[in-house]
Amino acid sequence: MKAGVLRGKENLKIEDIDIPSCNHADILIKVESCAICKTDVKMFHVGHRDLELPRVLGHEVAGTIVEVGKEVAEEFKVGDRVQVAPGLPCGSCPFCISGIPNMCDKMKIIGFHHDGGFAEYMLVPANGVQNGCVNTIPSSLPFEEASLAEPIACCINALKRCRVEPGDVVAIFGAGPIGHLCAQLARLFGASKIVVIEKSTQRIEFAEKNHLADVIIDSSDIGSDSVEAIREEIDSNSNGVDVVIPACSAPEVPVQGIKMLNKRGRIVFFSGLPYVQEYISLDHNQIHYKEIQIFGAYGCTSKQNREAVRMLSAGRLNVKYLITHRISLNELIRYFEMIDTHNAMEVVVK
Ligand SMILES: [Zn+2]
Ligand SMILES: [Zn+2]
Repeated sequence: MKAGVLRGKENLKIEDIDIPSCNHADILIKVESCAICKTDVKMFHVGHRDLELPRVLGHEVAGTIVEVGKEVAEEFKVGDRVQVAPGLPCGSCPFCISGIPNMCDKMKIIGFHHDGGFAEYMLVPANGVQNGCVNTIPSSLPFEEASLAEPIACCINALKRCRVEPGDVVAIFGAGPIGHLCAQLARLFGASKIVVIEKSTQRIEFAEKNHLADVIIDSSDIGSDSVEAIREEIDSNSNGVDVVIPACSAPEVPVQGIKMLNKRGRIVFFSGLPYVQEYISLDHNQIHYKEIQIFGAYGCTSKQNREAVRMLSAGRLNVKYLITHRISLNELIRYFEMIDTHNAMEVVVK
């Protein structure tokens, strides 16, 4: 089969490799859609803590079951349309047992430790099948939309970590795909006002055209006193926002975000910072006096993938407009480079 194999930094080739063999408890799927994640692009350029090479990347996957191991439960059969949650937890450690498998120390991830979806076929290993990573999808849900369930699940995790509640004013930094998904979810969670802060003109125009938020602020206009300016824009009487979600990796954003929070405000560190800038300095007393709450969020659970699939199936989220490019496997390398330059939103390989 054809597959995009990463062998080292910026060394990705489309190769002919064997179709993975499906053992007793595994499921083999024909990949129908695999979306390119910013993490894939990061792995391509600089690697990743959890990446083992050589590797077929791609962890945002939907496809059709073509083979089912003998020991797999009857709920799965050849021909089923499915979405795959990429995290394969051990299922038995204290984190897995208490329902937070994304914190499992023995977690293996499809597209990081196991071959992923930038290929014609992909194997879901036994522990993924057993731990609820394969979600059937209705015929009404296109594969390309189902393949975005994984990033949606990561956003659900982030919003739940910082407890977005009805009535909250939510500020989201970044109007890339993740900013869009977080804004849609914040609205579903009952946010009363959503503010999106973005510096790219292209992305601002795209956000405005799609009515992404109540207020869209061009951060390239604001200059040095960005926090005050943003507060003014939101509401001159307000004491700040209730929740800040940095959906970008700029190291200054968490610092600014904490400054614009109201008392008891919440911020979720959702996006990783570049390795060279992973330390930031925060105003300790501000966090202390205002009782600011800081949360971390990493990845998602198989349950959150199921929730995402249900939301998509019920038409509660709109991701169609986010898919700006549909490409073939042969074009993969070119598009890895393109995402870097903000020229695309979601790119799916079909
Ligand atoms: Zn991803
Ligand atoms: Zn575990």
